[in-house]
Amino acid sequence: MTWQANGTSLIKRLPTVRGRYSANVDLSKSTWFQVGGAAEVVFKPADVQDLAFFMKERPQDVPLHVIGIGSNLLIRDGGIPGVVIRLGRGFTNIAVQEDNSVIAGAAVLDRNLAIAAQEEGLGGLEFFCGVPGAIGGAVRMNAGCYGSEVKDVLRNALIVTSKGAIVQMAPEDLGFSYRHSNLKKHDIIVAACFKGEASNPDEIQLKMQKLLKDREDSQPIRERTGGSTFANPEGVSAWQLIDEAGCRGLCQGGAQMSEKHCNFMLNTGNATAEDLETLGEEVRRRVFETSGVTLRWEIQRLGVQEGVTVEEAMAA
Ligand SMILES: Cc1cc2nc3c(=O)[nH]c(=O)nc-3n(C[C@H](O)[C@H](O)[C@H](O)COP(=O)(O)OP(=O)(O)OC[C@H]3O[C@@H](n4cnc5c(N)ncnc54)[C@H](O)[C@@H]3O)c2cc1C
Repeated sequence: MTWQANGTSLIKRLPTVRGRYSANVDLSKSTWFQVGGAAEVVFKPADVQDLAFFMKERPQDVPLHVIGIGSNLLIRDGGIPGVVIRLGRGFTNIAVQEDNSVIAGAAVLDRNLAIAAQEEGLGGLEFFCGVPGAIGGAVRMNAGCYGSEVKDVLRNALIVTSKGAIVQMAPEDLGFSYRHSNLKKHDIIVAACFKGEASNPDEIQLKMQKLLKDREDSQPIRERTGGSTFANPEGVSAWQLIDEAGCRGLCQGGAQMSEKHCNFMLNTGNATAEDLETLGEEVRRRVFETSGVTLRWEIQRLGVQEGVTVEEAMAA
């Protein structure tokens, strides 16, 4: 039997929370790629306790995903079965501490963290201004740029586990590697504390301006994209392998590998998620053929293709 989203009846099975459930939410406008289907239910928890309560009481057979602001996400055309958790207003506090650290809720934009740190003369966190996501996604993905990444500056992260416990984790518990952490699938980052160092606010500002200019010059940041499509393999840049495999500018339907930075995949206007995923897989195939290297998707792919069975949808 083909799977069909039915958010309204799913909501009836979910625990009574203080936050908000919405049924059949079109997510295509909520990601940078602007493709993909609907989430069966979106849950916006009121605060950490509300989220923990939901995690404890939710029916265990319902698929669950958490998303940030969708700058690293490809949502498939058939949508996302089950519940998608999006952290909003209850998770946007930023507090710069006297001991040169800053605590940020998971829904704080990375850019806003960088600005708050700069204003307080806290250096070392400038790189956040170049990552267009929110803190939860940054910790999950060990985001970084221009030589710095989350694992270098994270003091600890506050997490709501799949069973609804609220726990603090140190960087060594999170198994960070390049653009990756070992955080369990259903563990949700709700806040994080980063360490900085006292610095001159004007110098921090200059570093941030340089970083943003370098990025603007080298990456198609004003396009519908998901950032780097593939993680850099050990000792080599993914873009070089892609270029050598002749994939710069390669197209599939409305999807294209950017001419400006060939590890960035673009929705040139009317791409489907299937176009983008098929293009990515073709690039992986060609890169393997020319270099023997298997590229790992950095972009996170969520949801199901259109017309899947109920069993496939429940396993997604
Ligand atoms: C133009 C452009 C440039 C980019 N440049 C960079 C760059 O220089 N460096 C870099 O590292 N990345 C870059 N990215 C990718 C992206 O911005 C980062 O990966 C970012 O950290 C993703 O955050 P997000 O909030 O958008 O997460 P999403 O894209 O929504 O989600 C990404 C992953 O994080 C998980 N996640 C999100 N929130 C939480 C949470 N609260 N708890 C647990 N898991 C969560 C999701 O399940 C998913 O697996 C770029 C993207 C774009 C579009």
